[in-house]
Amino acid sequence: MKVYKFGGASVKDACGVRNLLDIVRGEEDLFIIVSAMGKTTNALERVFESMQRKDNTTALERVAEVRDYHKAIIDELYGAPTKIMSVELLFEQLRNTVRNTIYRPADAELWYDTIVAFGELVSTTIISDYLAREGVDNYWVDMRHAFLTQQRHKDADVNLEATAYRLKRQMKDTGKRIFVGQGFIGGAPDGTTTTLGREGSDYSAAVVASVLDAESMTVWKDVDGILNADPKIFPDSRKIERLNYIDTIELAYSGAQIIHPKTIKPLQNKSIPLYVKPFNDKTAAGSVICGDAERVEEPILILKRNQVLLNLHSRDLSFVLEEKFATVFATFENYRIKTNLIHNSAINLYMCVDSSWHIDEVMGELRGEGFDVEKQEGVELLTIRSYTDELYARYAHSDDVIIKQTTPHSLRLVRRGQM
Ligand code: ASP
Ligand code: MG
Repeated sequence: MKVYKFGGASVKDACGVRNLLDIVRGEEDLFIIVSAMGKTTNALERVFESMQRKDNTTALERVAEVRDYHKAIIDELYGAPTKIMSVELLFEQLRNTVRNTIYRPADAELWYDTIVAFGELVSTTIISDYLAREGVDNYWVDMRHAFLTQQRHKDADVNLEATAYRLKRQMKDTGKRIFVGQGFIGGAPDGTTTTLGREGSDYSAAVVASVLDAESMTVWKDVDGILNADPKIFPDSRKIERLNYIDTIELAYSGAQIIHPKTIKPLQNKSIPLYVKPFNDKTAAGSVICGDAERVEEPILILKRNQVLLNLHSRDLSFVLEEKFATVFATFENYRIKTNLIHNSAINLYMCVDSSWHIDEVMGELRGEGFDVEKQEGVELLTIRSYTDELYARYAHSDDVIIKQTTPHSLRLVRRGQM
């Protein structure tokens, strides 16, 4: 069994879906994980935001736009106005969810997951239908029932053991050898839909590869392979041919967009190689992540945007020591806010965290614990691994730098957002 993962950019239009067909045609034992088409997840986040503002009219208008976008892809694929009943049904369910939900802030993550999951449900339904019509016999797997996750919304981990059982049970007796399942989504013990974190489809594919003991996993992307920097931000990016699991985890954690940080562990545990290949050239070598690759020596630049810098200052001038740390981290964990860099002195603690709806609530709680808390929004975190003198000179001296951390191997800068 092989596992292929197609991200949103690779299936953003009819041409992309045809290309997917071209890549999978002729494969025999294959599990295909697909993300939501194009920027659908962002669009569904907008639907959810309208619900948060109790503006159902706008929410429904936005659902209609998402539907129109998919309808256009379907019509183009089939060369004529076409209705796929199962897709219509999904949009009907989505509209009903918007209409019938009484939104409460405490349930934000639950409703977020319920809404955004439709992106993957719709994309896989379209792709499964299209593959079948083109003679690629396949089985649509409902990952909400196959993946058992934590009871935690918006960033759930998958329980591998239970999932192995549930996934195999769904696949058994289908008589099929090609399977199509949604990335990014799963089901909680209470039966509600969960998501695995933005860009989580890579992780989904890795979980499938792991529980099915796949021979390999391939991510088909709109780049040539893994690059040492995002070419949209940094000039002179180069392809890295081979990476080991540990370097990859470090890179992903620092914000490299190439692969979701949670992807590597399930693969490493079973030594499954991960290929990253260009979607538009199925014969290209791409990059491979595997256990025996050497450490990457060349510089790697990673920019994580959408960060908030918090400055905590203990009011009674007590040192910010272990027990204070524990309180602070527990509070962030409680609100599912990820900390990406910390910097401390005796009475100050700086934390660079992902932007979140709950920042102000967290600040309120920490004030209750005896801290003065200030926030600075719109900052970004730049990590440079294996930095050179030239890179140091280029980035570390800028007036925009707020915090600078260096080790012999890496340079990390919290700086005011540039774009
Ligand atoms: N569609 C989801 C997202 O955009 C998951 C993914 O693309 O991996 O975050
Ligand atoms: Mg996506």
